[in-house]
Amino acid sequence: MKIETKCLHEGYTPKNGEPRVVPIVQSTTYVYDSTDAVAAVFDDPTLSLIYGRFENPTTDAVEKKIAALEGGVAAMCTSSGQAASLCSILNICESGDSFIASTAIYGGTINLFSITLKKLGIECIWVDPDCTEEELMAAFKPNTKLVFGETIANPSLTVLDIEKFAKAAHANGVPLIVDNTFATPILCRPIEWGADIVIHSTSKYMDGHAVQVGGVIVDSGKFDWAASGKFPCMTEPDESYHGTIYTEKYPFAPFIVKARMQLMRDFGCYPAANSSFLLNLGLETLPVRMKQYVENAKIVAEYLNNNDKVESVFYPGLEGNKYYPLVQKYLPLGASGVISFSIKGGRPVAVKFMDSLKLASNEVHVADIRTCVLHPASATHRQLTEEQLVAAGIDGGMIRFSVGLENVEDILDDLKQAFAAI
Ligand SMILES: *Cc1c(COP(=O)(O)O)cnc(C)c1O
Repeated sequence: MKIETKCLHEGYTPKNGEPRVVPIVQSTTYVYDSTDAVAAVFDDPTLSLIYGRFENPTTDAVEKKIAALEGGVAAMCTSSGQAASLCSILNICESGDSFIASTAIYGGTINLFSITLKKLGIECIWVDPDCTEEELMAAFKPNTKLVFGETIANPSLTVLDIEKFAKAAHANGVPLIVDNTFATPILCRPIEWGADIVIHSTSKYMDGHAVQVGGVIVDSGKFDWAASGKFPCMTEPDESYHGTIYTEKYPFAPFIVKARMQLMRDFGCYPAANSSFLLNLGLETLPVRMKQYVENAKIVAEYLNNNDKVESVFYPGLEGNKYYPLVQKYLPLGASGVISFSIKGGRPVAVKFMDSLKLASNEVHVADIRTCVLHPASATHRQLTEEQLVAAGIDGGMIRFSVGLENVEDILDDLKQAFAAI
């Protein structure tokens, strides 16, 4: 099946007389015929369902769909994108370990990595996404367990050279985790370029309608944990799960089985069935929406680029952008729908401009179906120091403009009247 077809048909195939649409299974628990039958499910939790804290049939259908879209072997949904980032790291890092992350990532993830994980004894080693291969290789320490980056970074919109990062990670016997939120599997499938684990905040384009927060972790099934020798958590018995050796018992997707049976069991950050139902509706129209986002964003980016009140436009899909060659390689269908631009006059003018917009709403969201704007320096990245802001590619005049699916003429008219107001 092509990806448009997968968006509609993967994950759920009704049998004779069953509901056409994936049903919302609003039950926390599942019934078994005997004590032995329950014991058998505990012996092999992949055989059947145990408890709603870490699995549910509605969510299971969505997990299968997203795994298929990304070209992975299994997926686990989480109650937020943040929970997906957290679980993807904690699944293979523990106190005393380190990992490498690109500086150009989501502000919430920067806080998680630099403050909260540090308190847990896990060190984040930051690298510039545009560093040379040598610089990247030099960043590894003996205790480094993974490498992390974003396909199209939120909000700096730098594009990750996935192959470069995958190569360095694999040369050091560790996996590459890519946050593919802004690209979605419609525009880029990082696993095809060497990523081992893909995560998403499904709250963005995947949901698309701004109706539920969620996340997902996808396992490519390709990373050889045993050959690496660096992951006893995968290759030695898990005492918290009656001695299970994940790579031996679940060789098809040990990362996801471990994340579910260990982390999700202990943390319980699993989405509600109703949220998964809504996410599934969003996924069904994802290909149509992504194509339109790209089309509208290109027109808006060109318009901003030719506006003399604008200091600079940053849209990687714009010819001449520093990342345009990487877009052509990794994102041939386009660079998604988010544009950032800096207005002349810095922070005060940017604020006046944003307050003058009428159609585009000021909101703490991005990748909505409706056009929305955000001032990163005073919102999502407010907690960062000046130094971290520079490293994340953000200045005071910078506006993150998330192009929606309105008629693009209306979006342009709104911009024109706001420019006239400053
Ligand atoms: C929003 C976002 C997150 C966090 O996701 P939530 O669903 O808001 O928890 C992580 N990564 C990226 C790239 C994001 O845009």
